[in-house]
Amino acid sequence: MTDTVHDVIVVGSGVSGLSAAVYAARADLEPLVLEGPEPGGQLTLTTDVENYLGFPDGIGGMELIQNGKEQAKRFGAEFTHGTVERATLEERPFELELSNGDVLRTRALIVASGASARWVGAENEDELMGYGLSTCATCDGAFHRGDDVLVIGGGDSAMEEALFLAKFAESVTIVHRRDELRASEIMADRAREHEDIEFRWNTELEALHGSKEEGLTGATLISHPDGHPKEKADNGVDVDRETVDVGGVFYGIGHTPNTGFLEGSGVERDSDGYIQTESDDEGRATTHTAVDGVFAAGDVADSRYRQAITAAGTGSMAALDVEDYLETLEHEQSAPAMAPEQ
Ligand code: NAP
Repeated sequence: MTDTVHDVIVVGSGVSGLSAAVYAARADLEPLVLEGPEPGGQLTLTTDVENYLGFPDGIGGMELIQNGKEQAKRFGAEFTHGTVERATLEERPFELELSNGDVLRTRALIVASGASARWVGAENEDELMGYGLSTCATCDGAFHRGDDVLVIGGGDSAMEEALFLAKFAESVTIVHRRDELRASEIMADRAREHEDIEFRWNTELEALHGSKEEGLTGATLISHPDGHPKEKADNGVDVDRETVDVGGVFYGIGHTPNTGFLEGSGVERDSDGYIQTESDDEGRATTHTAVDGVFAAGDVADSRYRQAITAAGTGSMAALDVEDYLETLEHEQSAPAMAPEQ
């Protein structure tokens, strides 16, 4: 363990972490940003971003992230690779144990470790992610005007993605592994009633076709009348197999917030693992968590909006909250001890 105690460490280098780093660096807090297993976060998995304010012609997801990193570095933010295995937050300064065994110490912590979209595990998905395969309809839907597209999943995310995609696509087919939706009644009804949305029940995605050069061109689907066809195929049961021509496939099978390292740390999370942030005395939203000095920004604390621009917004909020926190801390530490009461 080094003797260095940082003012603030930002866990995560996606758009929220970068925005926090820019603000913290401009406030002379010299933030250290930890780039984890998915450096740059979810935006690096998408091609063009058209709904981030300030880029009338859109901007590549990777470029946006690289620009953000340069911007943060310009003001003095430091970056290092590191995955936090465990956070010890009961004592000050906080301690973060990294997977390589290093231990970092910090007065304040911004958790911006994001949420990872779940992947199906279909053949070729690594190759085609961002090239017709996407985990975000809001980000990539507009590139599929006139295409036939598939949405994988049967929950609210899948319904929402399908309804959004139906504005652009020629047809949208929701592919679900059972014959019953998990989605809320209202979302399911909206999708069922939409004339451009169809369902393929008891069906799963086995493989994707295409290349980075030509983009995604098709998908192989497997189905079994009793549902869960992949499981059945793995157990040697015969399944139907069909290859369909499609221009886009969207995964809507949920996200997992990257908060495992906070287990037992005192930071409160909801039943899905998302960090719960606290309101101030007047009921206004803040990035404070249940542990004083620990702040959360971006998708790790947001299962609802999950947009690049909202993540950037909460990143800046977290840095402002850290500034306030450190100022208060300094003030408390430098205040003369109260004279004992007579
Ligand atoms: P979810 O409710 O967990 O649904 C995930 C869906 O994906 C399920 O239908 C599941 O199938 C399917 N799935 C999971 N793994 C799969 C795999 N490997 N292959 C194929 N299919 C797979 O997740 P979510 O839809 O992201 O919703 C998460 C939470 O956010 C929910 O509470 C939801 O209500 C909320 N949410 C709300 C809104 C809204 O109100 N506008 C929008 C989005 C999300 P099974 O059903 O067979 O398990």
